[in-house]
This record gives sequence, structure tokens and C-alpha cells, in this order.
Amino acid sequence: MFLQVCGAAREVTGSCYVVEVGVTRFLVDCGMHQGGEKEEALNFAPFAFDPLELDFVLLTHAHIDHSGRVPRLVKEGYSAPVYATPPTCDLVEIMLLDSAYIQEMDAEWRTRKARRAGRRNVEPLYDQEDARKAIRLLKPVEYSKPVALAPGVTVVFHDAGHILGSAFLELQLEEQGEKVRVVFSGDVGQPDQPIIRDPEIIERTDYLIMESTYGDRRHVRDGRPEDELAEILKEAKRTGGNVIIPAFAVGRTQELLYFLREIFASTDLDMPVYVDSPLASRATEIFRQHREEFDDEAWRLVREPGGIFDFPQLHYTSSADESRALNEKRGIVIISASGMADAGRVRHHLKHNLWRPESHVVIVGFQAQNTMGRRLLDGDKRVRIFGEEIAVKAHIHEISGLSAHADQAQLLAWAAHFQPPRLTILTHGEPNAAMTLERLLEDNLGFRTVVAEKNEIFDLEEGGSDR
Ligand SMILES: [Zn+2]
Ligand SMILES: [Zn+2]
Repeated sequence: MFLQVCGAAREVTGSCYVVEVGVTRFLVDCGMHQGGEKEEALNFAPFAFDPLELDFVLLTHAHIDHSGRVPRLVKEGYSAPVYATPPTCDLVEIMLLDSAYIQEMDAEWRTRKARRAGRRNVEPLYDQEDARKAIRLLKPVEYSKPVALAPGVTVVFHDAGHILGSAFLELQLEEQGEKVRVVFSGDVGQPDQPIIRDPEIIERTDYLIMESTYGDRRHVRDGRPEDELAEILKEAKRTGGNVIIPAFAVGRTQELLYFLREIFASTDLDMPVYVDSPLASRATEIFRQHREEFDDEAWRLVREPGGIFDFPQLHYTSSADESRALNEKRGIVIISASGMADAGRVRHHLKHNLWRPESHVVIVGFQAQNTMGRRLLDGDKRVRIFGEEIAVKAHIHEISGLSAHADQAQLLAWAAHFQPPRLTILTHGEPNAAMTLERLLEDNLGFRTVVAEKNEIFDLEEGGSDR
């Protein structure tokens, strides 16, 4: 029995693990690397395993850094099941089609450039047909129900409280009479997030593979995040500036809508809000269809007029023309993807607003190294967007209380529910975050902990790695 960490090792994106038990071999997550050119090139690198030898894939949640390379697996011949919770299956469907479209556009653009330079056409990472084939492999698995997937492999999906449908996985593995329990944390949610339920807790595992995104940080809370957001809106309204919020289409956008609805209902603030992301609009529809996953608070709102994601100020744009028309408007809020501002329509809005001193940009999620969002947070005064140099005069805000990720204290609190595992393996965090959490887990909880290296293999039989 072994486990190999194929991605998200000392970095946040590219989650992917191989587990082998007897003759069975499977993946947990198959995510894309995100960030700059260097990270994106990694998506084209060969897999560390043969896709044809896999028996199945388990997905912790729909975010593209956990699911985005599944169509690539399919392109290389994979055709076995992909298990995930029912909301994750629905969200993965729209996300993979969207991702495939972006891959096709990107390859087309690179092909035009390559041709001008006398070079060959560029193949996309995968296309929409690969994505459709991948979607046909999705098999929904309910939360909390043990499912036997192969001889010696049983999985339970537990609610991770990160985004709709997110799960951490409890695996019971058995080979030649030896039983090993392994928990993959997936992404651990922040308790008290609106809409979805809090992360579940369990107490026993032999191996804990745990994310460490915010291992070195605590979310600063100067009061409630919705109050911080209301203050920014008030200021923008006063000076006639726009508020640009780069947001993941899935999860973060719905959470923002939830807060905006609350702000407009409880104050005299009034500003038009545009969700400028076709993917976010489709994702919001899926949220509506999965009300069974909502927490009590959200359930209360479901019954109110307009439901949970509607209010008079809210507009959804779909066509590129409608999106462009927003360039002419002032005093509006634009929520647009991608969440790290390194792709998608939000780049156009940043180009048109960053140079204006009356504009506001609100960062509401984790920003990986080399992304536009991280540059803005780091205070860069000039950025390049679509090859054009743009001065950054806008106010840049960060509302960290809105994060879908547990922070350092919350990660420790979640881990503290386990009796000390034989070994805790940290992934999904930049080196400093992972190493800080490693120290805290060892010092505060007495957990034997390591930070995984890329492609590192851990023996699951004999009490952990021998390093
Ligand atoms: Zn995630
Ligand atoms: Zn993640």
C-alpha cells in the first residue's frame, strides 16, 4: 500500500495523489496547476502514472485545481469512473466545459502566434469533446455513506464545508489482512461561512493528508466581512467609482451575493451589481438546485421572496457585448472571474478601472504566487494586462474573513479532533505556510508531521515514511 503526492506539493494548486492497494490503483483529485506561464506549462507535463492503469478517480470538490486535469486523463485514454458528491458532479460538469473552452481559445491564440513565427500548430490541453467524455464518467456518491469501490478500498465522503459539495475523504484500505485508514482533507472550509454547512469532524485516522493553504496566516477580522464590504461600497458610491471583485465563479460569487443582498436589505446603500461571468450564473443555478446542502441560516432565506440569490440591484451579463458595455458605467459593482484575476473577463475590468483613483478592487480569496491578484495585494504600482502597461491607482482592499479556507487556527482546531495519526502529510500550501503548520501540529498537538515533496511516495503499511 502506498501513496504518491503528484501535485500541490509545496504549492497550492495541482492537487493529485495516486493510491495503490493490492492490484487497485486510483487517484484522489486530478487538478490543474494555476498561476503564471510556468505553472500552466506543468499541466502539459506527462502524468507521474499511466492513466490506463487507474481503476477510478475520487474528487474532493469541483475547484479546477482539484478537478481540471480529468479531461486530460480522458484524452490519454482513461475511461473508468470518477466519483464525487452529487453537487460536485453538477459543478464539475460546467467547470470542465468552461475550462475546455478556455483551453481551446488559448491554443487558438498560441497557434496564430506560432504560425506567424513559422512554427507548428499548438494542441489544446484538452477540448470540449474530452470534457464531455469526462463528464460522462462522473458517478455521484452521497455524503456519509461508506461505499466499497474495489476489494480492500472503502470510501466515505464527509462534508468539508469549503464550497457546495466539497468533501474530505475517509478511506479504509486493506491489503493482506493489514488495515489502514487514510484521510484526505481536500480543502478545509472556514466555519461559519454563509450558505454551506461547517466542516465535519472525525476522530480517527492512521494517515492524515492535509491542506496547509493558510498554515502561516490568520484571517484578520475587523468585524464582520459584510460590514467591511459595505464600507467599501459606501466610499465608492460617494466618489462615483466602480468596485471590482475578482471571484471564483463557484462558491465565492454566491457568497458575495448572499452578503450584498444582506447589505442592501439592512442599509440604505443602493448600487447596481453585475455578475459578469457566464460560469458564475450557471453555478448559481446549481446552488439553487442543491438547497439540501444549505445551512439553517440559508434555508431561512430560501423561503423569502426572491430566494437567496436575487435582489433588485442584481444583474447577470452573458454576452461579451454586455460585458464590454460595463466599461461605460460608473458607480457599479462588478463580480467577475477568475478569482486570482489571472484569466477571464475580470482582466478587462481591471484594465479599465485600475488606473482610476476612484476605483476599488476587493480581493476576497487566496491569491497564488505570480497571479495578478497577488501582485495587486503586494502593492505593485504597475501591472501588464493584455500586453498593456496599466498604472495601479485604485484602492486595493482585502477582506480575508470571506475566505473559503480555514486559517491557521481553524486548521489546527480541525486537526485537533483527531487522535494523533501515525503520520500527517502536509500539502496544498506554499513552503512557508506548510512548514509553519508542520511545526504547530508537532508542538501543539504532538502529531508526527512532514511536508510532502513533489512526487514523494509514502509507504502506508509500516507506520509511515522512513525519513
Ligand atoms: Zn478549493
Ligand atoms: Zn484547493
